[in-house]
Amino acid sequence: VAKSGGKNRVRVFERGMREEVTAQDELVRDLRAAVANGELRVLYQPQVDLRTGVVTGMEALARWQSPSRGLVEPAGFIPAAESSGVVDAIDDWVIGEACRQLRAWDDAGLAGLGVAVNVSARRLGTGDLAVALAAAARDAGVDPARLEIEVPEAVAAGPDAAAGIREVRALGVRVAIDDFGTGSSSLSRLQDLPLDRLKIDTTSVALLAADAAAGSLADAVIALGNSLGLQVVAEGVEEPGQLAALRALGCDTGQGHLFGSPVPADAVTALLRGGRVLTAVA
Ligand code: C2E
Ligand code: MG
Ligand code: MG
Ligand code: MG
Repeated sequence: VAKSGGKNRVRVFERGMREEVTAQDELVRDLRAAVANGELRVLYQPQVDLRTGVVTGMEALARWQSPSRGLVEPAGFIPAAESSGVVDAIDDWVIGEACRQLRAWDDAGLAGLGVAVNVSARRLGTGDLAVALAAAARDAGVDPARLEIEVPEAVAAGPDAAAGIREVRALGVRVAIDDFGTGSSSLSRLQDLPLDRLKIDTTSVALLAADAAAGSLADAVIALGNSLGLQVVAEGVEEPGQLAALRALGCDTGQGHLFGSPVPADAVTALLRGGRVLTAVA
């Protein structure tokens, strides 16, 4: 009796757990299939030199066109992809697709664009990110120096971050810290990392008003970037007042709806056919 009671308890426990994990399991299972079935898409958002208005590059942002769920934004699948490890396959696909797109832009007469891809902090320590970047660039016939990786601030806490960054940069690939200021990182560790750029996240930019920019978090990040010799990219620039404030603070590069929302590659091609300088800035 005691034995079968134990079994029953186990069974009840399992059933409760199963209900909790089912939705997540299905999401992860569907995501794995999504990579294999070609359901991922990449949107590109222009990055703009704030002094000249010249489009200097693009950020590649993943979307999932699911047959059953519809168009899924990263917030709906990147967290599950990270906790299950599927994110590496997604990132590898995005890296490959971005390289193929650079080549397609070259062939369309839009030579020399750069593209930034997002990768998880954990991936930098695995040693195979540099291999994946090199292979993708070679297969597409593009110079790896046209690629940049964006990594979360948490990377600065990882023990293998510096080695991983050095490997990637040895290829000529640039390294940016994404959403800088939203996580917690030790500034002394950050200072030891061989980085290229800091990105100010959308929430810090949203708080910027032209008359109250001094002393803001954006101001602090720009000053830090300048003192470390890093370029600073502001994300989520939506209003002319934010643009003016960022320029006054000495921010190099901007990204946001003011310049252009993330769009499919052919829309970028159409945009840049009209010239590489955006009138919203110049
Ligand atoms: P992120 O890398 O910080 O990307 C910036 C986010 O801001 C994007 O959200 C972009 O669409 C959004 N954005 C662009 N302009 C504006 C603006 O003017 N105002 C505001 N409020 N937001 C703007 P999205 O595309 O939903 O991506 C969310 C996050 O998902 C990304 O944040 C990135 O961390 C992650 N992600 C996206 N694609 C990938 C990927 O291929 N791999 C990995 N590992 N993560 C990805
Ligand atoms: Mg990013
Ligand atoms: Mg960001
Ligand atoms: Mg982010």
